[in-house]
Amino acid sequence: MDIKSILKDINDELPQNTRLVAVSKFHPAEAIKEAYDAGQRIFGESKAQELEEKHKILPKDIEWHFIGHLQTNKVKYIAPYVSMIHAVDSYKLLEEINKQAAKHNRVINCLLEIHIAKEDSKFGLSIEECENILKSGKWKTLENISICGIMGMATNTDDNMIIENEFSTLQSLFKKLKAEFFCNDKNFNELSMGMSDDYRIAINHGSTLVRIGSKIFGIRNY
Ligand SMILES: *Cc1c(COP(=O)(O)O)cnc(C)c1O
Repeated sequence: MDIKSILKDINDELPQNTRLVAVSKFHPAEAIKEAYDAGQRIFGESKAQELEEKHKILPKDIEWHFIGHLQTNKVKYIAPYVSMIHAVDSYKLLEEINKQAAKHNRVINCLLEIHIAKEDSKFGLSIEECENILKSGKWKTLENISICGIMGMATNTDDNMIIENEFSTLQSLFKKLKAEFFCNDKNFNELSMGMSDDYRIAINHGSTLVRIGSKIFGIRNY
């Protein structure tokens, strides 16, 4: 199937308040252009330098989402244009994003990454660490970032019960945080979860942003 038909099939499955992030990491600009020409506007990348190169040559109305682990020293490269950073996993990173966004007079949307998977290779905050960051209240002084929600990755497993449990945990946490810290903040609205193999489960648990790569662009050559 071509990219256009795959995008159509995925979009037909998504509820109205769920958006598709087409994860284009490791795929060439031509593939992104093909998806762009089919109407896709949100793309996800996980390396600052790769995003830089693609941003330079691709249409300027693309909404770039940074979905990978972001080192503080790389924030400055993407701050001028990145529209959302999905995997914020420390207060220090939030401060750096704020500082770099301020230089460009922008507000950058951020999601707090929660570690829920069983694998320990994955980055992210524990639920407790996330709550502690929010409880401290310091983030409220950061005027050039907006905390828009949380993001997580499920365990890479064939056992759907495990995935269900993890997405359900994220959904409950999202609701709890919204009630506790963001009840007057209409921006806190995003629950980023679901990838090629588990996005249907994620949708059933209220995902608002699914991050789908290989199903659209094929296997990646690392
Ligand atoms: C690579 C990646 C994806 C996309 O994974 P697929 O299985 O190819 O859909 C989603 N989210 C994150 C954080 C990723 O790094």
